[in-house]
Amino acid sequence: MTLLSKPIELYNLKEVIDLNQADILEWLKFKGVFPSTKNCSKCGKSMKLIQRNDSIDGFSWRCTTDSKRCSLRDGTYLQNSRIDVKTFLKIVYFWAFQIRQVDQVSMISVDRHTIITYQQKLRHLAISSFDIESIKLGGEGKVVEIDESLFVKVKHNKGKDLKRPQIWVFGLYERGTKLVLFIIVPKRDAYNLLNVIYKFVLPKTIIYSDCWRAYTRIRDLDKNFEHFTVNHNLFFVNPENGVHTNSIESVWNSAKVHIKLMRGVSRDYLQSYLLEFCWRRSISRIATRFKLIKDSQSCIQENENVVSVINNVLSKKGEKMKKQPVTPKKYNLRKRK
Ligand SMILES: [Zn+2]
Repeated sequence: MTLLSKPIELYNLKEVIDLNQADILEWLKFKGVFPSTKNCSKCGKSMKLIQRNDSIDGFSWRCTTDSKRCSLRDGTYLQNSRIDVKTFLKIVYFWAFQIRQVDQVSMISVDRHTIITYQQKLRHLAISSFDIESIKLGGEGKVVEIDESLFVKVKHNKGKDLKRPQIWVFGLYERGTKLVLFIIVPKRDAYNLLNVIYKFVLPKTIIYSDCWRAYTRIRDLDKNFEHFTVNHNLFFVNPENGVHTNSIESVWNSAKVHIKLMRGVSRDYLQSYLLEFCWRRSISRIATRFKLIKDSQSCIQENENVVSVINNVLSKKGEKMKKQPVTPKKYNLRKRK
């Protein structure tokens, strides 16, 4: 299988990054990121791709009839972008693996602001492919764990912290598929929590929660939900029926680590980061994250250069580390403290 015909996956994105610029452009065209043909906006005739040194990609479109020119990037994701395609693919790759922005700056010669801008674009792309409106959890015989959590804690309860409003996030977790959804709610009262449940959970779902009083009315909703609780003041697992919400709580912890990694997440962006987290989990569910990481590693190990780059990321302040295979655990930067 040639590189061109491989599907776009993280592990062969790495191979593409190693190609020269002209081959990368060829790949982008083949994958439909760049168009492979273009018609002149003036006369409508088919344009020709010509070499140009003053263009960032080394090529631009030209009409042979009226000499009208236009950029290779017109109408593409990279329209108005000033970074070269290799750097762009690196940013995508690092974003996919959640490499910290500060580490990316040291690996690619782009300033942090640019990286932040592209990551925002990628996050929005991811979120829009997630289509939150159509997400439904549970169904007959399926268990959904729910739990609410305070996301931005008031640290000292005095001074400027008093002004920081508390942010309540409501989480839903479907057992089996492990699909998860986090929604910021204005208050953790019955009105707000029941509304989210009503919107996202399918009828006849079995819902597990703690004994927060807002949940007592779940059975009143006209969706034939079954509802069981565990009293967290007494147990982690209800000894009578085995009900627990350990899964959603463990997902909370990973989500909080994810947010912490993105140091200085603006509070306005919190929902989009949470959705990005949900999206990442949902693709790992489909593509199986393990395979993705395993394959990308075999490819990384072939390339010493990248191994040293990754080692630099992992070592403290550029301290030299022994060149060694990057193990899945170490490569999973999400877990890094
Ligand atoms: Zn023309």
